[in-house]
Amino acid sequence: MPATITDRETQPHDLFNPTEAHAALRDMVEKFSLSSLEAQATDFDEREEFNVDLFRRLGSELGLFGLTVPEEFGGSGMDAVAEVIVHEELSRTDPAFTLSYLAHEILFVNNLYVSATDRQRRKYLPGVIDGTKIGAMGMTEPGVGTDVLGMTTVATKKSDRYIINGAKQFITNGDCADYVVLYAKLDANQKDITSFVVESAYPGFSVGKKEQKMGMKASSTCVLYFEDMEVPAENLLSEENRGVVSMMRNLEIERVTLAAQSVGIARRCIDEMAKYAIVDRQAFGRSLVDHGQIQRLLAESYADYAAARALVYQVAAQLHPNARNSLGAASAKLVATNMAERVARNAIQVLGGYGYIREYPVERLLRDAILLSIGGGTNEAMQKNIAADLKKQFTPKN
Ligand SMILES: Cc1cc2nc3c(=O)[nH]c(=O)nc-3n(C[C@H](O)[C@H](O)[C@H](O)COP(=O)(O)OP(=O)(O)OC[C@H]3O[C@@H](n4cnc5c(N)ncnc54)[C@H](O)[C@@H]3O)c2cc1C
Repeated sequence: MPATITDRETQPHDLFNPTEAHAALRDMVEKFSLSSLEAQATDFDEREEFNVDLFRRLGSELGLFGLTVPEEFGGSGMDAVAEVIVHEELSRTDPAFTLSYLAHEILFVNNLYVSATDRQRRKYLPGVIDGTKIGAMGMTEPGVGTDVLGMTTVATKKSDRYIINGAKQFITNGDCADYVVLYAKLDANQKDITSFVVESAYPGFSVGKKEQKMGMKASSTCVLYFEDMEVPAENLLSEENRGVVSMMRNLEIERVTLAAQSVGIARRCIDEMAKYAIVDRQAFGRSLVDHGQIQRLLAESYADYAAARALVYQVAAQLHPNARNSLGAASAKLVATNMAERVARNAIQVLGGYGYIREYPVERLLRDAILLSIGGGTNEAMQKNIAADLKKQFTPKN
């Protein structure tokens, strides 16, 4: 008998595990997630703390940092599907810890690798791949989120340095990051963006308040300030004014991995509600699952989850730094994040009063799921992006 209702889907050589290497990765991460991660998830959520010691083990023991980085730079040379597998499996038990993983692995490591020179890769990748250093990414500002091209952080060139002034809002891992991929403008009045890799040890870098959140409590979210922070010119990523391209490219894999987090949350919620309705709970002399309205909640959740999961893996399989897919990434995020909120809400309903208390994980999973419709671009932004991409495709070319 499978351990969970959703276990049957983890077969090798299917859409979800295209190769033996993917299946082995899933197996390893699932074991870690259901044991070590599960054991601490409720506690760190209640304490609103990031489990940084356990996090470092993802690099030093499990080799989960640098999955998409080629082996010659110390990574695993895998693909976006591998990232999706890890994000899905970790999110089955602790989506907040997984969000910190995403900020490090996707927003910093993957982002840096794609935009950096070999010299920058050799300097910054070893520490973030073995887990001795932690990465973050600063794009959002106190005054701009969706309207990201309106950012006001400025990097002024001065001989062999850039002097950076500004602030970044809602930065995951902000208070523990050693390195940050940072977006700024060379002139406040221009639209173009330039990206840098900066170190938290640089004078002028400071960490502001840690936010108290509705969910994702075991991931830290902070404001970062830059006051006349001097950054060596060699820390420029790519070229001046080319930051929008790398930002958009990285947002695509971010959106697909946030969608994978939604899949992991939904998968756990389905397992929880199925077990409760089929095995644990009776009402009026029958199992809960024998009541039609409970069947509807369970069945619609499962079908909703299965469809979103297939889309997420299909889009991930097409994702590559040289093959953009903004339409697919936005669609996967829009569908999966809405699905996870519905499924988590259904799980609470199936568990009744027990769904609403902390003894069961579904209330935490709903709180965590809601962030996924906001971070990495809101669902309203996804709707606009999808419509804009479709408009481009259907507008006749002159
Ligand atoms: C827990 C957490 C972690 C995060 N981690 C990071 C991180 O590591 N790095 C980082 O850079 N950022 C991070 N963010 C920021 C996140 O990406 C932004 O919150 C998100 O992009 C939305 O921006 P905003 O919050 O400024 O909302 P706004 O852009 O102010 O939007 C407010 C509302 O208006 C809507 N809206 C805005 N513009 C339009 C429009 N043109 N049309 C229709 N509706 C619109 C939005 O959809 C939303 O509903 C994080 C946020 C949170 C909460």
